[in-house]
Amino acid sequence: MQYYSTNKQAPLASLHKAVVKGLAEDRGLYMPEQIKTLPQDFFDHIQDMSFQDLSYVVADAFFGEDVEAEALRNIVYDTLSFETPVVQVKDNIYALELFHGPTLAFKDVGARFMARLLQYFIRQEGNEQVNVLVATSGDTGSAVANGFLGVDGIHVYVLYPKGKVSKIQESQFTTLGQNITAIEVDGVFDDCQALVKNAFMDEELNRHMKLTSANSINVARFLPQAFYYFNAYAQMKKMGRADNMVMCVPSGNFGNITAALFGHRMGLPIKRFIAANNANDIFYQYLQTGEYHPQPSKQTLANAMDVGDPSNFARIYDLYGGSHATVTSLIDGATYSDEQIRETMLACYQQTGYILDPHGTCGYRALQEGLMEGECGVFCETAHPAKFKETVDDITHADVTIPERLAAFMRGKKESVPMTKTFQDFKDYLLKE
Ligand SMILES: *Cc1c(COP(=O)(O)O)cnc(C)c1O
Repeated sequence: MQYYSTNKQAPLASLHKAVVKGLAEDRGLYMPEQIKTLPQDFFDHIQDMSFQDLSYVVADAFFGEDVEAEALRNIVYDTLSFETPVVQVKDNIYALELFHGPTLAFKDVGARFMARLLQYFIRQEGNEQVNVLVATSGDTGSAVANGFLGVDGIHVYVLYPKGKVSKIQESQFTTLGQNITAIEVDGVFDDCQALVKNAFMDEELNRHMKLTSANSINVARFLPQAFYYFNAYAQMKKMGRADNMVMCVPSGNFGNITAALFGHRMGLPIKRFIAANNANDIFYQYLQTGEYHPQPSKQTLANAMDVGDPSNFARIYDLYGGSHATVTSLIDGATYSDEQIRETMLACYQQTGYILDPHGTCGYRALQEGLMEGECGVFCETAHPAKFKETVDDITHADVTIPERLAAFMRGKKESVPMTKTFQDFKDYLLKE
C-alpha cells in the first residue's frame, strides 16, 4: 500500500519509507491511500475473538500487503502480550484500561509494534543502523525507550523538557542504558518537538546518520492503537453494552483518537467520539469555531496532553476532507482546567472507589457531562494512576500502590545528556555521535 502526505506536496511512499522517514518531505503526515472496510462477519463474531486474533485482522488490513503474514502475525502477538480490560466505573461509564503494558501507559503498544516493524525492514535491507529521535512530554519517551530497548540495529534518542516530567516518568527512559540515550532539554515539550522536526529536515545531518521518528506521527506507532478500539467494542458487545457506544479519548497529540477514527472508517460501530482535553484547548476551539490556531503549550496536571499544536490534527482534517461540519457531526470536544481535574478525580474516588489518573479524569468527566439518553460511554484510562502518584495522592489521599514494574525503574541510576533548545547545539551533538 502507498502512503501520501497530508500536505499533498510529496511523492507517495511505501510503508517501509513512511516508517523510516516518519514525516514526509513536505512536512506533512503520512496517510494510507486506502482504508479497508472490514467485513460484517468480523464484527458479528468479534466478541468471541482474543485481543491478539482480532488485532491481527486489523493489522492485516493496514499492513498485510507490505509485511509477510507470518512476520506480521509474530509482530502483533509479541506486541499484545497484555490485556486492556474494560471496567465499569459508574452507571453507563466504563474505563478502557490501557495501562497494563510494560511502562503502564497506552503508548506501549505503538512503540513495541513500531520497533518490531522497523527491525523487520532493517533486516530486509541489510542491517544499516537506524537512529530514532523522539520528543516526549512524559509517556512517549518511556514507551518508546522500552519498546526499542535491546532491539538490534536501532539507537534511540529521547528528548524531554527538563523539570517538566515526573520522576517516575523520567526514570523509565533515563535509567535503561544500552541503545537508549536520554537528552534533557532546557525548554518545554514544543522545543523538544521542534528540535526533532528540524533534525529530520537537515540535509547534512541526514547524510551523516539515518534518522527516523517514533513520535505519534509515525504510521507504525499510531495505527496499531486502532487495535484498542476494536477490542473495547468486542468487550462491550460481550457485556451487551455496545449499542450506542460513545468513545472518549483524552487527547494531546491526537494520535490515539486518530487511530480510533481509522477504526470507525473501517466499519467499527462506534456512534460518536469525544476528544477530552486539559487546558490546552486548541482542538476544542476548532470544533467551536472552525478555525485552528496553534498555541504555546500550557503546563497542566495531565502533562502528557500538554500540547499546543497537536500533530495529528492534519490527519483528522484530511480524513474528513477538511469539512468542519463532518468533523463536528462525529466528534465532540471538552476542555478542563486543573481545578476541574482535581474536583473530578476526588469525586470519582469518593463515589466509586475508582482511582483515576489526571488524563483519564478528563475522559471520565467528558462522559459524565456529555453522554445522552441511551448511550454507553467508554473512556480511555491512558495511564496507571501510580505514574502520577504525587498528584493523585495529593488530591485523593488514596496512597496509590506503586506496581513493582515501576518501582524497579525508580531504583535505577539516571543518566542524561544536558542540551539547550538551540538546534545548532543539538545538531553538533548528533554530528559527533
Ligand atoms: C500520550 C498520552 C495521552 C495523549 O495521547 P495522544 O495520542 O497524544 O493524543 C494521554 N494520556 C497519556 C497518559 C499519555 O501518555
